[in-house]
Amino acid sequence: MNRVLIHPATYENIRSAVDLAFDHFPRALSGKRVLIKPNVLRSAKPDEAIATHPALVRAVVDCVESQGPAQIIVGDNPGLFNYGANEKTFEETGLMEAAKGYYQNIGTDSVKMAFNPEFMPSVSVSRAVMDADVIISLPKFKTHGLTVITGAIKNSYGILPGAQKAKLHKAAGSPERFHGLVVDVFQLRVPDLFIVDAVLGMEGNGPASPDIREIGKVLASDNAVALDAVIAQMMGVDPQRLAFFRKARQDGLGDYNPKTIEVIGELEPIEGFVLPPLGGDAIVGNPSIQEFMSQRAQLLPQASQWCTACGTCVDQCPVGALEMGDDDLPHVDAETCITCFCCQEICPEKALRLK
Ligand code: SF4
Ligand code: SF4
Repeated sequence: MNRVLIHPATYENIRSAVDLAFDHFPRALSGKRVLIKPNVLRSAKPDEAIATHPALVRAVVDCVESQGPAQIIVGDNPGLFNYGANEKTFEETGLMEAAKGYYQNIGTDSVKMAFNPEFMPSVSVSRAVMDADVIISLPKFKTHGLTVITGAIKNSYGILPGAQKAKLHKAAGSPERFHGLVVDVFQLRVPDLFIVDAVLGMEGNGPASPDIREIGKVLASDNAVALDAVIAQMMGVDPQRLAFFRKARQDGLGDYNPKTIEVIGELEPIEGFVLPPLGGDAIVGNPSIQEFMSQRAQLLPQASQWCTACGTCVDQCPVGALEMGDDDLPHVDAETCITCFCCQEICPEKALRLK
């Protein structure tokens, strides 16, 4: 039986909830490569509830440090609005400081992984994700216009650097297929422990809605399906109604049936919690969001006047999509480029722009 911890917390006393999470779900961390992955959707202030709160990230870093020497990395790949701006996004969310010097731009190096050819034959995953011995995922308690909730499973969508995320959105085409795609990305590397920031959550049309909801909880589990099922019940939605739960169970990742989940703490549905439409209409039926996503999926890197022709981007492109031209500028082959934007992240002159 999978277990899910629900514990009262504020951002001031969150460390005790984190300690309790490690007590219930202990992990051997000393000497290990430990990746701490918050949800860093885009630049936002901590009280906007868009990204995982810095207080949780700091508490988890402190807790991992206290368990002996480990190679800690704190990192994520931001979404649509912040492609190629990893450091800036961490700064502006307060997570750079919370990471206590362990921040790493995980968008600069990736590993090619075979993927579900229904969507794309391969994807590039941040190397820090695939190299980690232990991944601690720190989702935010939020709604999502396509998947209805964005919890433990959806937080893994950020293991993909750059605009692959937008390309896959496009390749999915429908909310139902996007649910399946999210589970396929999650399975590329299932995290080992999940600690959810549900102190300040989000309702309405997330994942960047202005409708903030005080919940006052931290949740934790070592099974994402059970944890997301508890989040869904707190939000007042039957997990059986959401396709990503059915796919995750079918793929053997866990069960969402409440009878199979032991809840440590009080599971109470949040009164009057506002959900987005369950069919994904909040995003699919919104032409401006669709247009924006389509534009982001078409972005390509282009060198500017600041380029010194150092060749770093050409050497580091994971798929060999860049070549130095006669004009001493790198040029991209649009067919080969997987829009990971590693080149933009690593350029020492910040000379690459997304066009
Ligand atoms: S890494 Fe930057 S400076 Fe170096 S060649 Fe590429 S664009 Fe130019
Ligand atoms: S040129 Fe290479 S490194 Fe740059 S975005 Fe395309 S695939 Fe990524």
